[in-house]
Formats: sequence, C-alpha cells, structure tokens
Amino acid sequence: MQLVHDVLVQSRFSNTFPRTVEMLCPHCLKEAVFEARTWQEHGRQLAASDLECARCEKTVLFVQLLELDGTRKDAGLFCHPGSGGREPMPGVEHLQSLSAPLARSYESALKLYNHAEWGASSLIVRHLLGGLGARMLAEDKRDLSLARKLEALQQDVDLARPLQDIAQLLAPSGTFGRQFEDESTIDKATAELLLELAEQLINYLVVLPGTMADLKSRIATAPVPLRRGSGAA
Ligand SMILES: [Zn+2]
Repeated sequence: MQLVHDVLVQSRFSNTFPRTVEMLCPHCLKEAVFEARTWQEHGRQLAASDLECARCEKTVLFVQLLELDGTRKDAGLFCHPGSGGREPMPGVEHLQSLSAPLARSYESALKLYNHAEWGASSLIVRHLLGGLGARMLAEDKRDLSLARKLEALQQDVDLARPLQDIAQLLAPSGTFGRQFEDESTIDKATAELLLELAEQLINYLVVLPGTMADLKSRIATAPVPLRRGSGAA
C-alpha cells in the first residue's frame, strides 16, 4: 500500500470521497486519471474502490481510511499496487541546504524517471554528479572531467568529519557519559538521541559500505544494452 497524497485527488463525491485521482499509473507508467464509481465500506475503519486507469484501463485498488464517525480521514488514501513513482530519497533537505540548484536537478531527474524518460533522467543525473563534485571540491578542481572529479572526492572531502566529537559525548564527562552514572535519570529524549546516534554510526560504518558494494555488484552484472548500429558488425 502506498500513500496517495490528497493533492492528487482531482474531484470528490458529495461525501468528499475521491472521485478522480491523477497520478502515475503503476501499469502503463504514464500520468493518468483514475476514476472511482463507488466506494464500499469494509468494517468501520476503511472503504475501498477499484479505480480504472483512463489510459490502459487496468485497475488499481484504492483504500480510504475513515474517522470514527465514518467520514473520510485526511491523508488516509492509499493504493495498491503503488503508483510506481520513485519517492525522493530520505534526507533530501540536506541537499537543498547545500545547494538549491543541485536539489532542483535531483528533483527533475526524479520527475523524468517517474515519467519513464530514462535517457533524459540519466543525463540530468550525470549533470547532478558533476555539479555535486564541483560543489564539494576545491576551486581549482571544478573544471575537471566528471571521472576526475569523482576520483578527487576521496582526497578533498573530509570523510572523517561525521565521526568527530562522538567519543567525547560518550566519555564519562560527556553528555551521555554523565547520564550513565544513574540510568534511572535517563529519559525518553536522551534514549532517543542515543539510539539515533548509534543508527547514524551504523549507517555510516556498515550500511553505506554494504549497500554501495551491493550496488556496484549489481552494476557489474547488469546486462548492457547493445550499442545502436553495432549489431551488424
Ligand atoms: Zn495505466
């Protein structure tokens, strides 16, 4: 089940249940209007309806969560299968604060990808990687080729920075260290911050290297499409 944002609902029945929804169709991968005929209530908590894609005529199951009084719950519309659209990566707001133009490039690449414009999306991704390299590197390296920029990243970016100051926090005199003297004083906020710190570390030390290794092996084993026109050789 994927959340369908309320802004995608184009029109509603008099009881405010969605009548038409415009979104990316999971079947034909095109932006399309889905129309509901009736909504069927199931129990007291939800109503369901099969909506048909106006382009490919295949159906998508929509589920609407209900309030206790049977009215529609805001932000309570879901669909299955999911719209097929790729959602922005978590933490994209940090890219936005690093550089608004880079964030816009990422947004465009995602939008093109979600419209099945593979080539155009990939060209923007290449441009995005070049821009990211230029943003992270010293000024004299900003005109390097994309491959050179990516190579230079490991020297120019301070990769140890996320790990700085963590030891201090957990030392006996540090923010967390002091609280361990009497664990009964540790409240939810502290427990949450400490858990988050551990999760960020695991992310950086374990998850990122692991997922990067998986991705590289998928890239290495992916079938490469034949170059156009080379078939006759
Ligand atoms: Zn469709």
